[in-house]
Amino acid sequence: MKGFKMLLLATLIVQGCYSQQTKQKEVKMDSTEKNNPVYSRTDKAKVNLKEDEWKKILSPDVYYIARQKGTERPWTSKFENFKEIGTYYCAACGNALFKSDTKFDSGCGWPSFYEPISKSAIIYLPDNTHGMVRTEVQCGRCKSHLGHVFEDGPPPTGLRYCINGVILDFEKAEAAKKKYEEGKKG
Ligand SMILES: [Zn+2]
Repeated sequence: MKGFKMLLLATLIVQGCYSQQTKQKEVKMDSTEKNNPVYSRTDKAKVNLKEDEWKKILSPDVYYIARQKGTERPWTSKFENFKEIGTYYCAACGNALFKSDTKFDSGCGWPSFYEPISKSAIIYLPDNTHGMVRTEVQCGRCKSHLGHVFEDGPPPTGLRYCINGVILDFEKAEAAKKKYEEGKKG
């Protein structure tokens, strides 16, 4: 029995290390350039594309979440346990959605926030699918599906924005600051 426990422990440790490595790899891969003409972190103009146009410019996994209201499997997002300081953007259009200081550990398996970066960042729609009464949240700029908001979050809002990590892009605070300062010089 003791031997079995040791084996189990060893397996858990190996798996833990493995998932750490894959997580780091995914974060790096995110910085690859997008082939998406509507993607902008500064343009506030609303994006209105037809579904077949979205299909051409989004990766299949982003398209599935954003445009087909898909849900990623819980515990699969690199952002679920992510603690870096910075800003989260819509992966479909670049609209700023959440700041890292409103992110919290909800334990629900998806990246969770208690407040959006601004009131217009997000739009809310009733969702009565799957036999549940929920509120869907969409990107305020491009109306991509992000996830849902629930009323069991922490203070000060009491809200839990449960967001698919696939539809989030992250930029570290230092990187954003550097870009801003370089922009001022030029
Ligand atoms: Zn968007």
